[in-house]
Amino acid sequence: MNTLVATKDASPKKYGNYIDPTKFIPLPENPDVKIARVTERSQYRRCRRQWNYAFREELQPRELDADARTLGTAVHAALAAFYTSMMGYPYDVEDPKDACLRVWADYVDTLDPEQFDLGTNILHGYFPFAEVEDKDFVPEMVEQTLYAPASPGVYLQGTMDLIVRRKSDSTLWILDHKTYRTFLTPEQIEFDDQLIAYIWLARQNGIPVRGAYFNQLRKKVPTKPLLLKNGTLSKNKNIDSDKATYLAEIRLRGFDPKDYADILEVLPDSVFYKREPVIRTNRQLDSFQENLFHETSEMHDPRTPIYPSKTRECIYCDFKQLCRVQEDKGDVENMKQFLYVRTAESPNRRES
Ligand code: SF4
Repeated sequence: MNTLVATKDASPKKYGNYIDPTKFIPLPENPDVKIARVTERSQYRRCRRQWNYAFREELQPRELDADARTLGTAVHAALAAFYTSMMGYPYDVEDPKDACLRVWADYVDTLDPEQFDLGTNILHGYFPFAEVEDKDFVPEMVEQTLYAPASPGVYLQGTMDLIVRRKSDSTLWILDHKTYRTFLTPEQIEFDDQLIAYIWLARQNGIPVRGAYFNQLRKKVPTKPLLLKNGTLSKNKNIDSDKATYLAEIRLRGFDPKDYADILEVLPDSVFYKREPVIRTNRQLDSFQENLFHETSEMHDPRTPIYPSKTRECIYCDFKQLCRVQEDKGDVENMKQFLYVRTAESPNRRES
């Protein structure tokens, strides 16, 4: 392990001056109180059977692939260290990048080498992007779990990746890190239901956030330009790359950047990282609260029927084998024992 070490005498600073943790809503100790997580609501809507396996029965595959979601979890942990170390946490690092990369290094055995290399490139590419995009931001809170009553006996739970203050106007914003192969389209953002949940949750807890940003990091390494037979680099303008990658290749091969000024001019600064602000009106927040009431009441009502919702997306489901056996009226319990573990017992526990 390569864990960050806290220095002895500095006192930890967990919140910025614009966050008042005394306003946070405590989760009642009553064991009858139920939790609905922000992240499980979309799964409930997508397929109740999948949600039932994952959240009610808390199952996850015994052999957790080093798949895309595991990479996402690891990148989130590394970014949390990056921003936490900027907040005056007493870590033994000078540079937030070091904090980030040391946490990242802990995942070397969890991820397969290809995924680890991809994540390393994503993080190294993120640093210069953040240097520019974070200029107006001050981290105020990192990876904080909040609760708020959603329906009788049910609390909504959500963990914010990051809350920042914009120096220019002192407004607070949620930053939600997302690792995708391609960026979200404006329509996908319009219909996204997760950020509005975080905005609602933050405001319920006395954090007057103005809105939220999707902090998108593409799960793809920039394409390097091809070396053509005539000994020069391809100037294909449709290349999925950026200025920095192209320039690095020019320098690596000892070419003169002046000979590539035309392509460098048209290549974007970054097509791998993007921030998209999301603002929701008070009316939209009211509608969200009404929908949340119905949804969470339903999720925790034992009379709610559980059934599969089969689509082509089922091929990506962690429970497809179990689901097949259940459809065949086979020995589901036996399969659970051999192929799945309870989430809390899993050595690769995937946080939700
Ligand atoms: S395989 Fe499809 S129908 Fe079955 S649990 Fe998974 S998502 Fe639901």
